[in-house]
Amino acid sequence: MAKRDYYEVLGVAKGASTDEIKKAYRKIALKYHPDKNPGDKEAEEKFKEAAEAYEVLSNADKKRQYDQFGHAGMGGGGFGRGGGMSMDDIFSQFGDIFGGGSPFESFFGGGSTGGRRQRKGTNLRIRLKLSLEEMAEGVEKKVKVKRLVMAEGVTYKTCPACKGTGQIQKVVNTMLGQMVSATTCGHCHGSGQVIDQKPPGVDGSGLQTVEEVIPIKIPAGVADQMQLSMSGKGNEPAGGGRAGDLILLIEAIPHKELYREGANVHFDLSLNFVDAALGAEIEVPTINSRVKVKVAPGTQSGKILRLKGKGLPDLNGYGKGDQLIHVSVWTPKKLSEEEKKALLKLKESPNFKPNPNGSESSFFAKMKGIFE
Ligand SMILES: [Zn+2]
Repeated sequence: MAKRDYYEVLGVAKGASTDEIKKAYRKIALKYHPDKNPGDKEAEEKFKEAAEAYEVLSNADKKRQYDQFGHAGMGGGGFGRGGGMSMDDIFSQFGDIFGGGSPFESFFGGGSTGGRRQRKGTNLRIRLKLSLEEMAEGVEKKVKVKRLVMAEGVTYKTCPACKGTGQIQKVVNTMLGQMVSATTCGHCHGSGQVIDQKPPGVDGSGLQTVEEVIPIKIPAGVADQMQLSMSGKGNEPAGGGRAGDLILLIEAIPHKELYREGANVHFDLSLNFVDAALGAEIEVPTINSRVKVKVAPGTQSGKILRLKGKGLPDLNGYGKGDQLIHVSVWTPKKLSEEEKKALLKLKESPNFKPNPNGSESSFFAKMKGIFE
């Protein structure tokens, strides 16, 4: 569809003043406001068209460009998105146009339902279980959610209670005489329209539960109990408006061997005391593989070995954590007579006194002699 001339859209002359443009837009915005025309696609298009025209004509730079080049001059003007402004853009613009207090509150909601800008559906929450590997590398998941959405095929009619005005007027007798007070129509909640016909499965507010599969990209570095929010993937509100958010609560599936602390992971290594004494190459698990680490001869319990960069990435891209290997020297619980004899013999050795100052070479010589 070819774009209409912005001046024509707002119904103002080319030389119109800023004030005239504002007034004209205000009139059209009120007329075609989605709250006044629920489910009316044509009104919504007119509403968007006017907002876009106003966006350009109210801005001196954009107006000059438009006056000179027409719509061709508006390319890359920053409101592309499929050629038009989103409803969010439009509603966030209202504050500037109407100076703080939105006129829609008094106009459509009587203050009770608030302005259209506040109308947002409820949030949906789901739990998402992730393995340590998935949290470390990021993952794409598809989650199934049940959302409330505006149903198709719902027809509306003028509210019989307020006859489409959205307000109920009451005449009240006061000391000063008769006064007319207006309250929001409770029947249509101020929209002026009520549902006429609806397909089965659609509730009284025109909403319908649908099951949707939503692809989600989980960034690397997320952690247990973290919440990720996807805007616009929650429930839609009755009567139209912004959908709420889909909030994902991350739940970590415990790893069998590693435990996580921030960006670091820890591993407890039980080292048999011969390996601790002689030194060894031991295979240990990491988040996504297994690696061999060298344990130096004479390693004590409590020693911590560090595998740099083998932890999880920082969510904000500040590097990676480490894997820390906590060594504990394991003592055998059952010994044969032969083993006991060997150990008793070792006990006599000067190197087997705690905190030995003897040289490692003599220690090795003895160990080799016994176990070979
Ligand atoms: Zn009504």
